[in-house]
Amino acid sequence: MVESGRVRGVESAGELLAADRVVLATSAWTRELVPELPVIPLRSHAALSEAIPPIAAPAFEVVVDGEIIYGSTQFANGHLLLGGGPDRPRTMSEQYDYTMSFKDTLKNACLLARIYPRLAGVHIVRCWAGTMGTTPDGLPLVGKSRVAEGLFVIAGFPNGMAFIPYIAALLAALAAGQTPELDLDIFQPDRFAGLDIRLPETYNYTILADYLGRL
Ligand SMILES: Cc1cc2nc3c(=O)[nH]c(=O)nc-3n(C[C@H](O)[C@H](O)[C@H](O)COP(=O)(O)OP(=O)(O)OC[C@H]3O[C@@H](n4cnc5c(N)ncnc54)[C@H](O)[C@@H]3O)c2cc1C
Repeated sequence: MVESGRVRGVESAGELLAADRVVLATSAWTRELVPELPVIPLRSHAALSEAIPPIAAPAFEVVVDGEIIYGSTQFANGHLLLGGGPDRPRTMSEQYDYTMSFKDTLKNACLLARIYPRLAGVHIVRCWAGTMGTTPDGLPLVGKSRVAEGLFVIAGFPNGMAFIPYIAALLAALAAGQTPELDLDIFQPDRFAGLDIRLPETYNYTILADYLGRL
């Protein structure tokens, strides 16, 4: 809730929770609340493996058969999350479609087994689709926004599981009026203000990366 250019609080279930500082951490849904912040929704797939011994350097972004495949995180309990198989191009609203077909699952599993041959015999315990947020330059929006006095933003991490908690702690310090131990300026949330950012009518991660690289 913003009045006279100042944050007044958050409205939830019809109730106003008053606050003079609010942190917006709504990733792919950010534009619904603040259209000036260009977080781009991007549908993605994920597969979760059974628990396996730690594997070395699991994070990746590679191109296979002309498609970008990206992201993996191994949890402390050994489960490996493999995110980001290729998806067919979709409209903006379809980026929020969470259905998964056998074909999607099979294609992803085959690609992942090519990237990680030693995982070929590992069991997958769950697959799903979801929406993550990205931005026109691929960097998240983190910091104080000029859209309203008292508004802080942390959004637009396409593959952020490993480092969001740390960056969130830096933002929390900033919102509390302290100086964060690392400068967040590179992530300034209003850096796209005034730019006319148009997206292709349909896109997936590969199309988006290619298209935005030309901006
Ligand atoms: C299928 C898939 C696989 C992924 N795989 C990996 C991976 O292997 N490794 C990796 O590092 N990252 C991966 N990611 C990306 C990772 O999930 C994101 O980087 C991370 O979740 C971003 O965290 P966040 O808190 O910024 O946003 P989110 O986790 O998206 O949280 C945003 C929250 O805001 C809520 N929200 C939206 N609108 C409102 C509103 N109006 N009011 C209140 N709440 C609202 C949403 O419900 C959501 O819970 C994957 C993403 C997906 C979708």
